[in-house]
Amino acid sequence: MSETSPKLRAELEGIPTYKPGKPAASDGPVAYKLSSNENPYPPLPGVMETVTAAAASFNRYPDLACTGLVDELAERFGVPASHVATGTGSVGVAQQLVQATAGPGDEVIYAWRSFEAYPIITQISGAASVRVPLTPGDVHDLDAMADAITERTRLIFVCNPNNPTGTVVGREELERFLDRVPGDVLVVLDEAYREFIRDPRVPDGIELYRERPNVCVLRTFSKAYGLAGLRVGFAVAHEPVAAALRKTAVPFGVSQIAQEAAIVSLRAEDELLGRVGSLVCERTRVVEGLRAQGWTVPETQANFVWLRLGERTVAFAEACERAGVVVRPFPGDGVRVTVGETEANDIFLKAAEGFRKGL
Ligand code: PMP
Repeated sequence: MSETSPKLRAELEGIPTYKPGKPAASDGPVAYKLSSNENPYPPLPGVMETVTAAAASFNRYPDLACTGLVDELAERFGVPASHVATGTGSVGVAQQLVQATAGPGDEVIYAWRSFEAYPIITQISGAASVRVPLTPGDVHDLDAMADAITERTRLIFVCNPNNPTGTVVGREELERFLDRVPGDVLVVLDEAYREFIRDPRVPDGIELYRERPNVCVLRTFSKAYGLAGLRVGFAVAHEPVAAALRKTAVPFGVSQIAQEAAIVSLRAEDELLGRVGSLVCERTRVVEGLRAQGWTVPETQANFVWLRLGERTVAFAEACERAGVVVRPFPGDGVRVTVGETEANDIFLKAAEGFRKGL
C-alpha cells in the first residue's frame, strides 16, 4: 500500500473534534447525565406515536423542503415561509450560516467562552475566529464585540442565553449593539434556550429580526421540545440569507421522523412548556442551593448553571461523577451543570456541598 494519504485542507489542522457531553455510566451506582443540556423528560406519548407511524416509511426520502414544518413555524411566528430554513439541528444551521457568509480572509466574531461549536465551524469554513472575552460577570461584552468589527467581519454570533454561562443580554444593550453593526454583517442570535428565559429584559430575537434585515434567529427542538436525538433546528432570516441556507443545506438532512415529531411537538406546546416551567423552578432551587452553600453563580436563564472553578474544575467534575452525576468540565475554566430531574439535582447539590467543605 502507498505511504501517501489524501491531501486534506490545511484549515483542518488544529480543529478540535466536537466533544459531546460525557454519557452517564451504565455500570455505576446511580448515574445521571447533566453534561449536555438535554431535556430530562421522556418523549410525550403523542410524539412517540407519530415517530412510530413515520418510521413505517423510512425506506423513502423525507420531504426535502420540510414543507409542513416550515409552514407551521411561519404561521406561528407570523413570518413568510420563505424566511424559515430548517436544518440538522441548530448546529447544522449555524454551520450553514458560516459557510454562506465567511471563508478564507473573513472574520467571525463571538464571545468567549461561548458555544463550543462556533470555533469549529468557523475554522472549517477557513475564516478567522475573533473571540471577545465575556465581562468579569460572565456576560457578553457587546461594546467590545462592536469594537472588534473590521472590514473583514462577515458574521457575529450572539448566544442569548449564553452557553455555558446561562447569562443574557437585554433589549436595550442588544439594540445599541445592533445599531453599531454594519448592514452587510450578519448577526446570528442563537436562542437555543429561548423557552427557559424568565427575565423580561430579554427581547424575543424574532422581534429584532423583523426590524433588521441583517439579523437572523437560530432556534432548536433539542432543548425545550425534548427532541435532541432527532436533530432538528431552524433559522428565521430575511430572504437572501434564508435562500443561502437552502443552498448550503445537506440534502434531506432532516428526517421525516424528525419533521413530524417537530410538528406534533409544536402542537403539544402547552404540555412541553409546562415541563419547561418545572425545570425553571428546579433551576431556581439549584441556584439558590448553590448560593446558600457559598458558591458564586451567575444569573442563568437557561437549563444549566455555570460554576467558575479555574484549576479545580476537573477535580469538581470528578467529585460529581463519584456522587452519581456527570457534569461538563471546561478544564481550567469552569463546570456547566444541566438542570435535570429533581433526584439528579439533589445529588449534584450534595456533591457541590461536599466539595466546598473539602470532603
Ligand atoms: N446553540 C447553542 C447555544 C447550544 O448550546 C446548542 C446545543 N448544545 C446548539 C446551538 C445546538 O443544538 P442542536 O444542534 O441540538 O439544535
